[in-house]
Amino acid sequence: MSTAFEPWQPPVVPVTSGPRFPTRRIFCVGRNYAAHAREMGANPDRDLPCFFSKPVDSLHIGDGVLPYPMATTNLHYEVELVVALNATLREASIEQVRTAIFGYAVGLDMTRRDLQKAAKDRRWPWALAKGFTGAAPIGPIARGSEPSGGIWLDVNDERRQEADLSDLIWSITDVLVELSKLAVLHAGDLVFTGTPAGVGAVVPGDRLVAHVDGLPELRVEIGSRSP
Ligand code: MN
Repeated sequence: MSTAFEPWQPPVVPVTSGPRFPTRRIFCVGRNYAAHAREMGANPDRDLPCFFSKPVDSLHIGDGVLPYPMATTNLHYEVELVVALNATLREASIEQVRTAIFGYAVGLDMTRRDLQKAAKDRRWPWALAKGFTGAAPIGPIARGSEPSGGIWLDVNDERRQEADLSDLIWSITDVLVELSKLAVLHAGDLVFTGTPAGVGAVVPGDRLVAHVDGLPELRVEIGSRSP
C-alpha cells in the first residue's frame, strides 16, 4: 500500500559495541533527586514518580551543535542517565525489568524553563516546554551493567551539576516498574531518569559536557538562536 508521503523514520542511536538502537518513544521522570525537587519548589518526599514524555523527534544524536530553540529566553540543561529498552514491559516485575534493559546512555533533558513556568502557573501541560527540536540530546548507548557512581555536567569547564546515582529517589528498576503500570513499554523506548540539583540557563556559544561514570560523555555546544 502506498503512502501519501514518505514516512518519517525514527532516529537511530549509536551503540558502543554492536548494531545501532532504533528508537520508539521517550519517557522522562521529573523530580527524581531530592535536592533538585527542592530547587524547583517541590516536596521531594517519595510519593509517586512524576512522569512525562517528549516526542521522539526531540532527539539530537551525539555530539555537535544544538540549535537554540524558538520561543524561549530561558533554555535550561538537565543532565540525566538514560535507560534503553529492548523488550516489552507491562505491569512488570523487577526481574522482568532487568531482562528488558538494553543499555544506558548520557542524555540532556533540555527545557524551555520560561514556558514550563508559564504552563505550571496556568495548570497547563508542560508538553511544549519539554518537547521541541533538540530537546533530547543523547550520547552513544553502552551495553552492560547498570552504571554507578557520579553524574555531572560542566558548562564552559565549570561544574554546574554533580551527584551520585545512589541519590536517585526512584532507582532505575523502580522507575521502570512504576512506568510499566501506566504504559506498555516497548523495544526502542528510552527513559530519562531525572536530573540532580544545579539546573540553569545556557546561551549560544556555551559548551556542555555531560557525564555519567562508565558511559561515553556527551558534548554539545549551544548554537545560535533561530532567526
Ligand atoms: Mn528532567
